[in-house]
Amino acid sequence: MIDKMNALRWHGRNDIRIDEVAIPKVNSGEVKIKIEWCGICGSDLYEYKSGPLFIPESKSHPLTGRKAPVILGHEIAGEVVEVAHDVKEIQVGDRVTVEPIRSCGTCVQCNEGYYNLCSNRGFHGFDGGGGGLAEYTTCNADMVHKLPKKMSMEQAALVEPLAAAIHAIRRGRFAQGQTAAIFGTGPIGLALISAVKVAGAKKIIAVEIAEKRRKIAKEFGADIVLNSNEEDVIAEITKLTDGQGVDIAFETTGVEVSYNNAVTATINSGKIVVVSLWGKEIEINLNDLVLTEKEVIGSIAYRDVFPVTMTLIAEGSIKPEKMITKQIGLEEAVEEGFNELVVNKDENIKILVNPSK
Ligand SMILES: [Zn+2]
Ligand SMILES: [Zn+2]
Repeated sequence: MIDKMNALRWHGRNDIRIDEVAIPKVNSGEVKIKIEWCGICGSDLYEYKSGPLFIPESKSHPLTGRKAPVILGHEIAGEVVEVAHDVKEIQVGDRVTVEPIRSCGTCVQCNEGYYNLCSNRGFHGFDGGGGGLAEYTTCNADMVHKLPKKMSMEQAALVEPLAAAIHAIRRGRFAQGQTAAIFGTGPIGLALISAVKVAGAKKIIAVEIAEKRRKIAKEFGADIVLNSNEEDVIAEITKLTDGQGVDIAFETTGVEVSYNNAVTATINSGKIVVVSLWGKEIEINLNDLVLTEKEVIGSIAYRDVFPVTMTLIAEGSIKPEKMITKQIGLEEAVEEGFNELVVNKDENIKILVNPSK
């Protein structure tokens, strides 16, 4: 069956499968990519265990016209193997990564340039328009970025989580010389440590309970890594910041106590950037913000930061590849990828999948 390929698809919560599907055809404006590596993201795990959040389950997505089952995977690195007749800027043979945001281009947000907030927003790898956990994917040429020569395909698969971190520090208006606390040091937490470090943080404090992740947080540039199971995180951060608290805190865990610690550990008028996704509501006291003029800021995905992210990685200012703990084939992706990341959080950080294997 020459026109079929294997793909990992989300059918429903707790139900992902390797299916045989049709190889996608290139439509006008599109390119076709043979995937070399695709990372499994925290948001993929969220959809697997708590979704759907971004996946259209019962109603078709407005931009793709599709609904579940959908192909997962949005941390994409691969080579262009076909381009539509009207695509000029991307050519066959280009090594690329995909900025996986699908936007309508006509809504108020799109007109402002806030394409990551498009009112019809879709994410490639969630919205039914294809994904990276398949041998091939097609997408609009304007979602594709050519890799710098010096960038490896593994690095290319890590551009997306790094871009999310760069966007988050922009959202938090992070400035050189500030102190930062990063709550949770999974892929996004590690990316944030790299991002604030390259942006000139004075002190980086990470908070993490998993032993292996604590060690890697240090390697990524955290000055101090606190274990919230063993230490009084607030007292320690206060001590480490001359009694003031950090200028900015990043919440990446989606855990209530971690969010509240992030708020408490931040200086008055400081900022708390929330990058995590939340499976349920949490209890907060708004006086913690009103009486202190602290700002809580949401951050979703990225806009206009893929080029700078790729430059930082290619020139070696950010070295993300240490977060890769495992590289597997598509056949193993459910057990050795998704389930492994859910069950064995302590041992794994980023798992890359090669869909051709
Ligand atoms: Zn991701
Ligand atoms: Zn739009």
